Amino acid sequence: MSEQQITVERIGGVTRLWLDRASARNAQSWQMLDQLDEALAAARRDPETCVVVLAGRGDHFSAGHDLKQAQAERSNISVEKRWEFETERYFEYCMRVWDFPKPTIAQVQGACVAGGFMLANMCDLIVASEDAFFSDPVAHAFGAAATEVLIHPWVLGLRHAKQFLFTGERMPARRAYELGMINKLVGTREELDAATMALAGHIAKAPPFAMQMVKKSLNRSVEVQGIKSALSAHFDLHQLGHVTDEFRKVNESGIADGIKKVAAAGKADQAT
Ligand code: ZN
Repeated sequence: MSEQQITVERIGGVTRLWLDRASARNAQSWQMLDQLDEALAAARRDPETCVVVLAGRGDHFSAGHDLKQAQAERSNISVEKRWEFETERYFEYCMRVWDFPKPTIAQVQGACVAGGFMLANMCDLIVASEDAFFSDPVAHAFGAAATEVLIHPWVLGLRHAKQFLFTGERMPARRAYELGMINKLVGTREELDAATMALAGHIAKAPPFAMQMVKKSLNRSVEVQGIKSALSAHFDLHQLGHVTDEFRKVNESGIADGIKKVAAAGKADQAT
């Protein structure tokens, strides 16, 4: 699986990074995550890039981490090896999106589930189309304590984050917009592309160093409230979740069942 799973598009001062694995609903393999991290590092160094847009090819932003690959390659992994793998690829890569010095925008359509939710919410802004939906069914399906990066209460507010994670239900884009998790909601995919690039292009016209300073200060305003400590503490607890009896039972009954449940949550009706 050495093919390119991230593709890069440059439009003026905007660099758009595409999760480019539409046939797998942009499930995040470790190769995709490695390529994304490398593409971000290049965009960071590129003096012409003022804004980065993170988008997904096809019908969905991202269905989350590639669980089939996880099952095939890491189902009997040691605690130490899982810690090493998830620390680097799931936690540190996400925090590098959070810490990315230039403004970032997630362009979201279709499923934005679990690891997809976590990644999109590392971005500074989110633009979504009406068909987008968000869910984190990880606790329900696998008995693990949410995804690795518990960004949920910071972007949804505590009470809605609790409902979201306790029920595992999907949240339609309109609801996420009402709760302030999304900056801009548009009707169609075509509008999504245009609206995201218009917003990115507008920000890219601003003095770039000023943008970087204001982003740093805004991020620090929640860092002094403990966002990074809270996310690190949750990551540790999430690792405990991988070695519980509950999680082991899911593994024994076949993680495929869990994957089916996650997929079902992704496909559930808008009314949920
Ligand atoms: Zn994990």
